[in-house]
Amino acid sequence: MCFLCEAKHSAWAGRRAFLLAAAGGAAAAVSTPLLAQVDVGKSSELRKLVPAEELEDAAAQEYAKLLAEARSKGALAQPGNPQLQRLRGIAARLVPQTAQWNERAKQWRWEVNLIGSKQINAFCMPGGKIAFYTGILEQLKLSDDEAAMIMGHEMAHALREHARARIAKTQGTGTLLSLGAQLLGLGQLGDMAASIGTQLLTLRFSRDDETDADLVGLELAARGGYNPQAAVSLWEKMGQASGGAGGASGLNFLSTHPSGPERIQQLQANVPKVQGLYLRARG
Ligand SMILES: [Zn+2]
Repeated sequence: MCFLCEAKHSAWAGRRAFLLAAAGGAAAAVSTPLLAQVDVGKSSELRKLVPAEELEDAAAQEYAKLLAEARSKGALAQPGNPQLQRLRGIAARLVPQTAQWNERAKQWRWEVNLIGSKQINAFCMPGGKIAFYTGILEQLKLSDDEAAMIMGHEMAHALREHARARIAKTQGTGTLLSLGAQLLGLGQLGDMAASIGTQLLTLRFSRDDETDADLVGLELAARGGYNPQAAVSLWEKMGQASGGAGGASGLNFLSTHPSGPERIQQLQANVPKVQGLYLRARG
């Protein structure tokens, strides 16, 4: 039984209640707007060249492998771990906000795990498989609001299917044909899925993808009741961490997510757009 399924259920019940109320013209003044407040375009059409289901299956396999590896080293946080509970609590507030960005997310089996490692790292794979490393929580001393910004950002990469588009752009037809063949049950192409899965962990997103994830993540977190101003303090901390570390190892997230004045200014400019959502979520 997944704790998030419960959250999804109640979210859907809430949304249905809202729709019914809106139909009756009653709750419009206090309802959360369904349309996006941040200004981002549509997801890349290119992503459609890679079947979503196939990619999500590959991600689930890779995620299971990663967890098994961590478990074998005694590095996988147990359900009673307070930090893991904190992360799962954040996810339970963000997941109900995801379907408006991607219909498929309603069917995703969201998972959140915490891996004991000094690495400053966190990710959300296609299909909603989330992992945080203890290093990012401890070294950046993240508040709940800041952790929610990272989770929102990572969820946004998955919801906006940046990996799917990126793989479509970089793989060429060989992989696409193989994926197609696999879908049709032709040949033994399990290795292909494994190689896609491995790539998911090392993927570098474009600058545009990063901006997209920043803004969509900001809105997800605000709708979940997390203070959007934390996006700014988070990236300031990121900037300090990458400046002070002098290229040391364990900076995965920082190397793929360069912080800088531009990033921070853009987030700051978008805080007012989602402030109302945040206040409404706080009730
Ligand atoms: Zn990112």
